[in-house]
Amino acid sequence: MPKRSRSRRFRGTPRHCLPRQQTTSSDPPVAVVMEETESSRSHVFTASQRIVEQSLLSEEDLVEEMGDATQRSTGFRLIDLQCISEAMSRLHMCEGGSIAVTDEGKYNGLSCQLAFECTKCGKITSMSTSKKKKRSHEVNVRAALSMVELGLGREAFSRISCIFGMPSPSVQSSWEMHNKNIANVCESACDKQYIAAGEKLRGVLQLDDDSIADDTIIDVTADDTIIDVTVSYDGTWHHRGVQSSHGVGVVMSVDTGEILDAVVMSNSCEICEKTPKDKNSSEYQEWKTDHKAKGKCLRSHEGPSSTMETAAAKIIWSRSIAKHKMRYTKILCDGDNKTLQALNEMKVYDVAIDKLEYVNDIHKRTGTGLRNMLKSFNATIWQRCPKERYFGTAAVKRAVALSVLNWNIGCGGLLSVLESLGLPVNTFTKKALVLKDKKRKRTASERSSAVEKRKIGRVRGSLAGL
Ligand SMILES: [Zn+2]
Ligand SMILES: [Zn+2]
Repeated sequence: MPKRSRSRRFRGTPRHCLPRQQTTSSDPPVAVVMEETESSRSHVFTASQRIVEQSLLSEEDLVEEMGDATQRSTGFRLIDLQCISEAMSRLHMCEGGSIAVTDEGKYNGLSCQLAFECTKCGKITSMSTSKKKKRSHEVNVRAALSMVELGLGREAFSRISCIFGMPSPSVQSSWEMHNKNIANVCESACDKQYIAAGEKLRGVLQLDDDSIADDTIIDVTADDTIIDVTVSYDGTWHHRGVQSSHGVGVVMSVDTGEILDAVVMSNSCEICEKTPKDKNSSEYQEWKTDHKAKGKCLRSHEGPSSTMETAAAKIIWSRSIAKHKMRYTKILCDGDNKTLQALNEMKVYDVAIDKLEYVNDIHKRTGTGLRNMLKSFNATIWQRCPKERYFGTAAVKRAVALSVLNWNIGCGGLLSVLESLGLPVNTFTKKALVLKDKKRKRTASERSSAVEKRKIGRVRGSLAGL
């Protein structure tokens, strides 16, 4: 009996020649199940081999093409108009000559050097397509921020570059550095926003307070009184596999609908995972102790992810006085009272925390509306960190900060991030943000008027039944 060979030859139509089918995954096509016959057992076609065999160019060919100024001076580039203006002011051109534009082949991520050459005397005026802000080219920071906003990464921008025939985005290490800067800026803008939201809430509550005369002018920033407020609280999760799980606890003011605080809990740390040290070595244990002591470890939660919601609440409640001079004494929460119980057992304040009781039907509707608001805020976090992809703790924290900014102050959030990153904001950016805010307001008012209509419909229906 001949030795059974695992080799199979592909006898069907290649996948790329088949009519395009709707797939849910963007992964490369995997092996197609093939019929095996005696004569077909001669060659193995793995998915990667097929890719290599189908490849049009070798790497050597590509190096040669990139070395050719005519070949690389094609396609699209992202160019800052101010850079062109500045280069034009220095431009040299002899009388009777013209200008030849070439890509000089010097790249810094998406930024490249262009040469304007006088065809008569050969004098070259060089320009960079993007300005440099501190150590980074502006175009590369903007590219990273765009992908953060879309919940995508460097790979996604590489595909855009590929289709437009542009240089590739910054190398992975630089891309990560841009993301780190973006995270720092977003988190500090978000911390400031929490404070502003607290002050706004204090102002709103004082307006409603009958014991304060209407003409009293109160400086909310200088007011040190600790006040009791009603909040809505919810936990939301990002799971991917067994290694990574993040939970976010969010507290929203019932009176303003703004986020007052949020905490990200993670049962993994990408720095610990990426370290090349042997996890069983004493060297690793020493490194880990130091890493934790320096406050660099991103792992903030031990135990099952189901306990993250309560753990996050404990952090949020215990810092409410320090952060806002407020006690979150009334809480609107779903179903079980686990979180409420835990907070009361912890005796976080010297008074008990109550679950908000629905006094009547109106309150119940308002309550449901507020719960839904918090749920839709949570959805905006995961739009920036889609649940089907892997995200580290830092990325989730960044997404939460951007979502809070966007939720509380709309277009002002992204504007403040752009400004803090030193990225000038022009009319197009402003126009797009204003339109986005307008659309958001319209959707919100449509939603509330639809609820109103349903209510009226129900009242009419019940009247008709009388
Ligand atoms: Zn010249
Ligand atoms: Zn760590």
